[in-house]
Parts: sequence; structure tokens; C-alpha cells
Amino acid sequence: MGSSIDIRLDSLVNPQPVNSRAALVANSASVRGTFYLETFGCQMNEHDSEKVAGVLLSRGYQRVENPEAASLILYNTCSIREKAAQKVFSRLGVYRELLGKDQKIGVLGCVAQQEGEEIFRRAPWVSLVCGSASYRNLPQLLAQVEAGEQRVTGLDNDTDETFETEITRRDNPCRAYITIIEGCDKACTYCVVPFTRGPERSRDSSRILAELRQLADVGYSEVQFLGQTVNSYADPSPRKMKFSELLVEAAQVPGIRRVRFTTSHPSDFGKDIVDAIDAHPAICNHIHLPVQSGSTRVLRAMRRTYSRQEYLEKIALIRAATRPIAVTTDIIVGFPGETEAEFAETLSLVDKVRYSGVFSFKYSTRPNTAALSMPDAVPEEEKRRRLAVLLEKQRNFQLEDLQKLRGTAVEVHVDGKSKKENQWYGHSSFNCVVNFSSSSEDLLGRYVNIRVTACTPNSLLGEHTL
Ligand code: SAM
Ligand code: SF4
Repeated sequence: MGSSIDIRLDSLVNPQPVNSRAALVANSASVRGTFYLETFGCQMNEHDSEKVAGVLLSRGYQRVENPEAASLILYNTCSIREKAAQKVFSRLGVYRELLGKDQKIGVLGCVAQQEGEEIFRRAPWVSLVCGSASYRNLPQLLAQVEAGEQRVTGLDNDTDETFETEITRRDNPCRAYITIIEGCDKACTYCVVPFTRGPERSRDSSRILAELRQLADVGYSEVQFLGQTVNSYADPSPRKMKFSELLVEAAQVPGIRRVRFTTSHPSDFGKDIVDAIDAHPAICNHIHLPVQSGSTRVLRAMRRTYSRQEYLEKIALIRAATRPIAVTTDIIVGFPGETEAEFAETLSLVDKVRYSGVFSFKYSTRPNTAALSMPDAVPEEEKRRRLAVLLEKQRNFQLEDLQKLRGTAVEVHVDGKSKKENQWYGHSSFNCVVNFSSSSEDLLGRYVNIRVTACTPNSLLGEHTL
């Protein structure tokens, strides 16, 4: 197994700024080219971009901070939001205006996979179209682009391979992401992910743990395992580690103080994960467990593979833990045919579970999905109303629950310093944002105890207790 290198933002090799085309020419003797990489979407997309940047750095490219200075502009796209393709084509129009002679542009990610060669038809100034399931072929695809080929594609979606990189150029100096499972084998009727990211592929546990040890060696103490259904992890190596065993082993790596994971699928969620959190304080007490709807009829129509009752049984497992565990979720309102009574079931589920956070979405159609042709669309105005009702309920719960923490102490991993003097921010193990005051000079990356003095619906406010 080859070893890999992790580059932290604060320890980048060759930090020379390259901010203009003139600088690009001046540097061209020593570097193959320069790249600008713009990313949209989820943490998984952010992390894919860190690995793509690693591939480019290892080919001798330098990163630049504006597109005008880049010989290669890459745009990593997301298709989870409504009208995603339309937004990508309009952005490509903006890039066209900027493009100088000899500059190339590539479209990566979910919209690249979804639109494929249509991108060349509508935006002929694009040279490369590559979906995430083909990132492992990026070195060859880049070589074709460098050789002057016009329409280079990486659109093979039917693969059992994962994207392994020699170098990952990590942007977040405090939390390192590690993809442990790529793609998705579920078939939720509203979701485009199985089409854009391909089938489920788990990475070898020994590779994951080797990457984790290297991260600890370069100073990372917090890691987050990523996957669309992270807990469906199925180790392809002879060790055949269960997901919960991987969590436990990760938590025991010297130097690692926090292990997170997202997103968990309720059907594959078991007591072993709760037991792992209970037994190992280094595994963060936060679980993101998307429910999508509180109605079993709607869940069936979404093909979510669990009922309301089964979901609530998983929640009961979590609530039975010795450590308090924060639960967050995703909810879609206005799925085709969702009645007022079914929406009321979602509200009553929110009452029962008392989530620490809800990401709520109005249903909207996605290409290729089964829900596209479902009858009884909920009118836009009604979706908006349901969303507002849900948000208001959740906002009140969050405010009430966070207020109860006033006067207590929370351990915060410090992510950054705000512009205001003596103001810092970070996250608790629950993944709650904590803004606090401290006169200490150098807190970045440290773990500090904060006394909670107040809160907003989405964050805690506090003071650093020395
Ligand atoms: N894999 C995760 C899971 O199983 O929950 C989530 C994947 S998706 C990137 C994130 C969220 O986007 C979903 O949980 C869902 O709530 C929302 N979403 C996906 N497709 C949607 C659609 N067509 N309309 C509205 N929301 C959608
Ligand atoms: Fe999409 Fe469902 Fe897979 Fe999540 S589990 S990525 S919602 S198909």
C-alpha cells in the first residue's frame, strides 16, 4: 500500500502567491500550470475538491486564488439544489467572459455526471467534464487536456473503485475529512445522488486508518468520516470491520480527540454505534439521522426503507445512551401527494424527537428520479407554508434547549477568531457552534472550556474559563 501526504492549509509547501497571468508566465518554467478550483455543495464535495487539488499539486500545478491567474479553471458542481444545471451553465457563461488564450476550463462533480456531453454542446469553451466516480482517472484525463484535446470526458459511473490520492490538500486546519464510502445503493425516489455518484464503494479499513494516523502525525486531532450513507460501510478488506469497530479504532489513535461521522441512514443504524459513542468519549455525541418525513405512507413513496415506528425505535436506542447525544436530521416538505395530515405527522415526529437541528427542504424535482412523474404535486405556496411552520417549531425547540445550557461548561475545539476583538468560535462535541470571548492570544486548534452565558437558536455564547 502506497503512503499518502496530507497538506494542511497552514503548512503549504511553496506558499508563493501567484495572482496574475504575468506571474503565471514568470513561473511557467518551474510549474506545469496553475489552477483555480471553485466548489459548490456538501462536505463531500468540499473534500473531493481537497483530493482533486492534491492530484493537481502532485502533477506540478500551483493553486491560485483568482480564475484570471489560472491556466486551468475547475468548477466542482452540486446537483442537490433545484435548477442546479441552469445555475452551472450561467456560471460557465461568466467564466467564458474571463477566459484568456490558452486557459482551459473543466466541470467536475454531480452536474458534470448528470449533464455529461451536453455541457460541451451548451458551453463549447469547456475542455473537461468529469463526474466524481471517475476522479481516480484524473491524472490521465488531465494529461489529455494538457496535450490539447478539446472534449475530454470522465463519465464512467459503473465502478467498484474508490478515489485514492497520494496528496490531499486540506483546506480546514482544524477538522480533517475522510471519505470512507463513496456513492449510494439506496434508491430514494426524490434523489439524484445514485445517478451522479454511482454505486456504493467502501474503502479498505487499513487505508482509512493509515490516513487517519498520518493526519494525527501532522497535528489533526478532529476527523470526520464522510459518506452519503456512512454507516452502510462494508469493509472490503479481510478484516471486514464493522462501521462501529472502525469508529472505536479511530477513537484510539494517539492524538485523535474527536471522531465525527455523517450521514447515517436510519435503516443501517444499530445499537452498536450508540454503544461505541457511549464507551468512547472521543467519538462525538452527535448523530445526523435524516428522517425526511414523519408519515409512513410518504416514507414508502420516497422508498426510504423504514417506517415512522422503526425510525422512532432507532431514536429510542440513542436516547437510552448514558451520554446525551445530539440528533440532527433532514426533512423534505411537500413531497408529491403529501397531505395536510401527513405533514402533521412530520410535525408530531419533530415534537417527539426534539432534534438539535433540522435541515429542511421544499421538495423539488430532479432529473432521472422516480418521483419526477409522481402525481399530486403540492403547490409551491403550500410547500412554503409547511416549511415556515416546521422552521418556526424547530427554532423554538432549539432556543429552549440551548437556554438550558446557560451556566454550564462546554469543551470547545477552537476553529477561528472573529473580526471582533477577543472573540473566538468553535464547536462542541455536540457540533453546536460556540462563540466566546477570551483575552488569550493563541487559541486556534486548541480545546478550551467555555462557560455558557447566552444563546441564539443556532449557537451558544460564552466566556473562556482559564
Ligand atoms: N444521503 C443522505 C441521506 O440519505 O439522507 C442525504 C443526501 S442529500 C445530499 C441531502 C438532503 O437533500 C437529503 O437528505 C434530502 O433531505 C435533500 N434532498 C435530496 N433530494 C431532494 C429533492 N429532490 N428535493 C428536496 N430535497 C432534497
Ligand atoms: Fe440520496 Fe437516499 Fe442515497 Fe441519501 S440514501 S444519497 S437520500 S438515495
